Amino acid sequence: MSSSRISIRKEQRPPKLIDEEGRRVDGRRPDELRPVKIEVGVLKNADGSAYIELGRNKIIAAVYGPKELHPKHLALPDRAVLYCRYHMVPFSVTERKSPAPSRREIELSKVIREALEPALFLEYFPRTEIDLFIEVLQADGGTRTAGITAASVALADAGIPMRDLVAAIAVGKVEGQIVLDLCDIEDKYGEGDMPVAMMPSLGQITLLQADGVYTPEEVKKALELAKKGIMKIYEVQREALKKKYIELKKEVEEEYGKK
Ligand code: UDP
Repeated sequence: MSSSRISIRKEQRPPKLIDEEGRRVDGRRPDELRPVKIEVGVLKNADGSAYIELGRNKIIAAVYGPKELHPKHLALPDRAVLYCRYHMVPFSVTERKSPAPSRREIELSKVIREALEPALFLEYFPRTEIDLFIEVLQADGGTRTAGITAASVALADAGIPMRDLVAAIAVGKVEGQIVLDLCDIEDKYGEGDMPVAMMPSLGQITLLQADGVYTPEEVKKALELAKKGIMKIYEVQREALKKKYIELKKEVEEEYGKK
């Protein structure tokens, strides 16, 4: 895959998004994910944390809690409140983004919270709060889904009991073709974007958004492709969590001797 920077100005003609050989702007096939990497426990101050790279996206998720909620009147008697903040740093995109929360970020914070809540046993922690921060350091399309993927690993790292991890990816339509994992240019110049999040083992969808127009067959194909991508991402999530505990076990054995 080419790593050269692809930049276009708005006034220029949209680039050709799929070439004669069926390759996309970054050299991928329609059903290919960008390279994905997840690291667990990257922030020692947080109760749980994770870092994800998906292509050029670089995102950190941090979890604090469960902890006492202030002001107390916002506490729920039967479950924890999940507070979620999605934010893009000013240098995350080429055109400086204001650090103040935009309408988009406020909406995405809600959407991400709703995609994660079904996986959490919030009822185990009444009257408390779990804080989740998602900070996008570099954005290149698909940050809400990569953010969900990282956040679910951070929640697991914090030891929050979960029914399943939540893995997410966007699919969409580019030059009439259904493609997996849209990059920024495909997102901006393509015909549609469909972010999907799932609890992969349970086979339950927790987020489904769509812009663009799709036939029923295209929706079916898009969901099948999303599921394929999600299963690959789920594997990377599980490997990342496993790696952390293998390293921890090694450290404990070195410190206290093998039993
Ligand atoms: N983006 C940008 N400036 C902004 C917000 C977004 O350049 O203020 C870019 C960024 O690369 C992002 C992409 O537009 O990933 C697509 O944004 P969208 O709202 O579709 O959300 P996402 O695909 O990141 O979940």
